[in-house]
Amino acid sequence: MNYTVIRKKRKMLTLKLDEAGNAVVLAPLNVSAKRIEEFVSEHLSWIQKKQAEYAALPRFCDGDTIELCGKMLTICSGTRAKVEKNLLILPEEGRSKALIGLLKRITRARMAEFLLELCRSYGFSYEKMRVTAARGRWGSCSAKGTISFSFRTAFLPDALARYLAVHELCHTRHLDHSAAFWDEVGSILPDWKIRRHALKQYLWAMRCL
Ligand SMILES: [Zn+2]
Repeated sequence: MNYTVIRKKRKMLTLKLDEAGNAVVLAPLNVSAKRIEEFVSEHLSWIQKKQAEYAALPRFCDGDTIELCGKMLTICSGTRAKVEKNLLILPEEGRSKALIGLLKRITRARMAEFLLELCRSYGFSYEKMRVTAARGRWGSCSAKGTISFSFRTAFLPDALARYLAVHELCHTRHLDHSAAFWDEVGSILPDWKIRRHALKQYLWAMRCL
């Protein structure tokens, strides 16, 4: 196992993967090389699991396929980021930035449409909607009624994206995850548990870009 050691004034040994997927050990100044080696071998399976996850992340290269809004698209080069039939066209220069811009536009349009439909049907109201780059969560709702969605929701099929819209709108009535909150979610989406569980298949979307 190859790894890099970064020594710093810190208390504990910590492991992480860098941007290229290599193992990095953050070590206190006085820890011996032998202890670091032991630490790495104790965490070998964690490193291997993380590296396997890293290797499976989409790279957005020409010819790769990627799921967007429930459709499988083939990536190819073009001047401007857009979806055309079953193609995801991305510029060669600044590809990630252009893709993030496209995902933000898709998220804004699609989630606003779900919110509108749900507000009309179930009498919800909210203050405003924001699109974020959050990795830790798909969406959130503030006490003031601002609903945020990560642009990463653009990778989700409609059924799961709509569940997120229901979830956040229900937070405008219950700011917690109490039984009353889940009852409200369930009154709109009786199969919410299945949808919530299915989100786990898309955790890669939280790690890429
Ligand atoms: Zn919630």
